[in-house]
Amino acid sequence: MKIALYPGSFNPFTIGHLSILERGLRLFDRVVIAVGKNMDKHSGQCEAAELLRSRFAGNPAVEVIEFDGLTIDAARRVGAQWLLRGVRSVADYEYERNLADINRRLSGIDTVIFFAEPELAFVSSSMVRELGHYGHNVDEYLGY
Ligand code: ADP
Repeated sequence: MKIALYPGSFNPFTIGHLSILERGLRLFDRVVIAVGKNMDKHSGQCEAAELLRSRFAGNPAVEVIEFDGLTIDAARRVGAQWLLRGVRSVADYEYERNLADINRRLSGIDTVIFFAEPELAFVSSSMVRELGHYGHNVDEYLGY
């Protein structure tokens, strides 16, 4: 069984994240969404995990966990052979490339990366948080 761990802060989980998940599900038998603990105490980790669990409750190919610590340790715990990530821009590329290299070097676990759909490349959790903070309705950007 091909299992991928899809790690992120998902604070919140956006339609950009959802697109990567859906594309990953075409490749893997199971995708485990791993909601990471943010250094920021207002990270909303539990809330994101709860919302994701109810959103995907009917889909046996999707599992949701919360994790703290190294991504590769979370991957090993759930038996994931790959990590799933997305890239929107050159800035993302540099960051993701470093992460993928370190994770592969430490564990042998490879990272599968999808390019963002062009119409979703502008969507980021920080943008959604900021819009929400100023009272803008952000439902259209949420992937729950
Ligand atoms: P992290 O804090 O670990 O970077 P995020 O929750 O911000 O986690 O993002 C998780 C993954 O989803 C990252 O690989 C990120 O590049 C990717 N991602 C975020 N937004 C989008 C988007 N709009 N389209 C495609 N991939 C995205």
